[in-house]
Amino acid sequence: MQKSSKLCNIQQMFTPLSLLQKQFGYDSFRPNQEEIIQAVLDGKDAFASMPTGGGKSICYQIPALCLKGLTIVISPLIALMKDQVDAALETGIPAAFINSTLSAEKASAIYSRLYKGEIKLLYISPERLALEGYLEKLKEMNVVFFAIDEAHCLSEWGHDFRPDYLVLSRVRDVFPEIPIAAFTATATQKVQEDIIRILRLHEPFQVRASFNRKELFYRVDRKEKVLRQISSFILDHSDQAGIVYRTSRKDVEKTTAHLVQSGIKALPYHAGLPQSTREENQEMFNRDEVDVIVATIAFGMGIDKSNIRFVVHGDLPKSMEGYYQETGRAGRDGLESHCLLLYSAGDMIKLQYFIDKMDNPEEKERARRNMQKMGSYASVNVCRRKQILEYFDEPAADNCGFCDICTGEIEKVNGSVDAQKILSAVIRTEERFGLTHIIDIVQGADTEKIRRLGHEKIKTYAVGKDKSKKWWRGIVEELISQKAVIQDPESYNALKLSPKGREVLFGREPFFIIKKDDKLPKVPTGEEDLFAKSGNYNTDLFDLLKEVRTKLARKKNVPPYVIFSDKTLREMSALKPVDNSAFLRVSGVGETKLEQYGPFFLPKIREFLGY
Ligand code: ADP
Ligand code: ZN
Repeated sequence: MQKSSKLCNIQQMFTPLSLLQKQFGYDSFRPNQEEIIQAVLDGKDAFASMPTGGGKSICYQIPALCLKGLTIVISPLIALMKDQVDAALETGIPAAFINSTLSAEKASAIYSRLYKGEIKLLYISPERLALEGYLEKLKEMNVVFFAIDEAHCLSEWGHDFRPDYLVLSRVRDVFPEIPIAAFTATATQKVQEDIIRILRLHEPFQVRASFNRKELFYRVDRKEKVLRQISSFILDHSDQAGIVYRTSRKDVEKTTAHLVQSGIKALPYHAGLPQSTREENQEMFNRDEVDVIVATIAFGMGIDKSNIRFVVHGDLPKSMEGYYQETGRAGRDGLESHCLLLYSAGDMIKLQYFIDKMDNPEEKERARRNMQKMGSYASVNVCRRKQILEYFDEPAADNCGFCDICTGEIEKVNGSVDAQKILSAVIRTEERFGLTHIIDIVQGADTEKIRRLGHEKIKTYAVGKDKSKKWWRGIVEELISQKAVIQDPESYNALKLSPKGREVLFGREPFFIIKKDDKLPKVPTGEEDLFAKSGNYNTDLFDLLKEVRTKLARKKNVPPYVIFSDKTLREMSALKPVDNSAFLRVSGVGETKLEQYGPFFLPKIREFLGY
């Protein structure tokens, strides 16, 4: 084939950097990419944990282009393989995939091209590799490099353990000489050691990139009217792609219905839907045919769509690791994206209920710790990014400048007096009552329960009648989330004072309420260059170019982001190139894409400029 013979020349003529520029259209490597590529080219094994969007693919695609022979990529994400291969082909890399979705005919066509050496990059699913004699068969194909994506699936300590991944432990036996590189976006130290041990990596070149996702804005709001909060957030981000996570299938359905009613293009995704519906919905989302997917955590691993602009959690996730993964699906293209978590103390009670039902004491303890960590993330007055990074044992500055705590969206108000009113009502009723009754007392409600128990006689009765129920509920939630008050699951969630609550009650410690205004976050100072190139882009032109992209994507039957990322389109709408050489200067435009797409985009830009 012509393409591959052209590439044979390229591989002798070009260095990794020039391939990056020519083929991928990027100016320079991201942190760690070059070092990993060089290690592989030197014949070394490698382990890399890099966050989502960090640019792992290039770390095996460039070696695949440089090395003479076949590079194998193992990926568990069968549904994504076609898109990954399409993306590689768009970039001009002769790639193919082999998995159970291929017909025997197509598979045999690929094998014949493989034997002829026409393919440089082959994606294979682990279950295919597990077939008897399959690895040995690969031996006939001049395999020069093995890359393992989502390598945390190998470890039982990870959150996505897949037993079928263990077949990879045999790769070293069959291919003792060639480099093996493992890639993951999530690996604690323990998982990392596991991966290296199971694959028997030999003195691998190791990279642990920072987990900091600078482009993600983290924000937590108190959950009140959750459906309305979600729809109003999305309406503020109209025409953008996003994911809404809900814990239960029922809430997924309810939320989807509400969004659709509000005029938002949304589809549901959960394990209760037929496989075919799930696939269709994911596909619609992937292809920008709908803006929003409302999903349980069944939706997710390896979503490759690069232009996800927001992730909303309508319920408290079970762990920080989960939250990091789920929010991490936004902003893969490096453009600023928003992560909103809606939190109420009631979510902790729901989670606790499930945890109580667990049998294994160790699991139970782990789940409890995870929940507490998550609850504290949502409620303490500490930079969200700092909390996330510290969870991954990474040091962080106190003020990131790009989360709700740090952008001054939040105002601390001294709420000691109101807090004392609640705490006093709790104490005077002997810590035996739950949130609703306590609020009724403070507000001076006339309920049957109050009359029956004689609670209208206690001193705190009606001391807060000047403020709304919602206000008092907010105070109680705040007291709970700041751990001044605990809800005791042993006695029907009766409110009880913690030592901190006593300090507040007796005025020995102030109590601050976190108040938020609804200002939209600004890009923090010092981070401007992150968005500078595409910052002043023309939104009208951007929309026009998006249309061109959508049309091309439909015609070629690939997801739009495979053609150009949002980031590339933004830069195009800022730089407004009118000829080939200017077009090539846009980040993300390489020679193959110039050739294929220049004729579609350039005339549109010229027309826009009135040429
Ligand atoms: P990961 O697999 O680590 O989540 P990807 O490999 O999908 O990340 O890369 C994320 C995005 O960043 C892609 O759009 C990719 O083309 C882009 N990218 C990768 N490396 C670079 C680079 N050196 N410069 C600019 N963009 C890059
Ligand atoms: Zn911050």
